[in-house]
Amino acid sequence: MILAKDITKDGNPVLRRKSHPIKFPLNQQQQKLAHDLMQYLVIGQDPVQAKKYNIMGGVGIAAPQVGLNEMMVAVLVPDKMHPQATKPALKAVMVNPVITSRSKQDCALITGEGCLSVDRDIPGLVHRSKKVTINYQDVHGKHHLLHLVGYPAIVCQHEIDHLHGHLFYDHINQADRYAEIPHEMVLDFAKNTDKEFGSKDHDASTDSYRAVRIRSYIKNEAKTKQNVLKDNH
Ligand SMILES: [Zn+2]
Repeated sequence: MILAKDITKDGNPVLRRKSHPIKFPLNQQQQKLAHDLMQYLVIGQDPVQAKKYNIMGGVGIAAPQVGLNEMMVAVLVPDKMHPQATKPALKAVMVNPVITSRSKQDCALITGEGCLSVDRDIPGLVHRSKKVTINYQDVHGKHHLLHLVGYPAIVCQHEIDHLHGHLFYDHINQADRYAEIPHEMVLDFAKNTDKEFGSKDHDASTDSYRAVRIRSYIKNEAKTKQNVLKDNH
């Protein structure tokens, strides 16, 4: 079982190395890794169990975060579009995941991103592709093709980044951490404005609405910091 002490922290070179592709069939250690990564997410998302084992909840975790430069990630993404849903939007252990295509349009979470391996809070828009296609193998070596939009796409990009030695804050514009990229979609689950997540086309009114919202978010950032729950990856 993965415990808090097993999570590698920013500054450990393992987080900045490129991971190695995995060959099939998985060896015993790799099978255990697949099990343990998903188990960590399941336990971490259960408040009672997370407290019992003293682990931080997360929606994704990658092998380098437990010290192994192998191309494996686990994702357990809650359905933020339907908060009442009992099923996650995405649950998978991905071996050798590759992003095979990306949308031109970007998206970012207004709350920024968090990471199990980064203890400090680093605010700012983390620019990601709004849509991605991912080719990965499951633990049996079977290939899968996934088309993801919005939040699940963001989570998978964060995890796959770990396999290439990138951390979320690498994507933040340090000169202006809330500067948007043209046509970028900014997701705000806290205020339940993620309806713009859908197929609605970009338009100017959405744009100005979003600019006001971001300004007010920055203004209230310090005040609401305590209340904004970041999802760790
Ligand atoms: Zn992370």
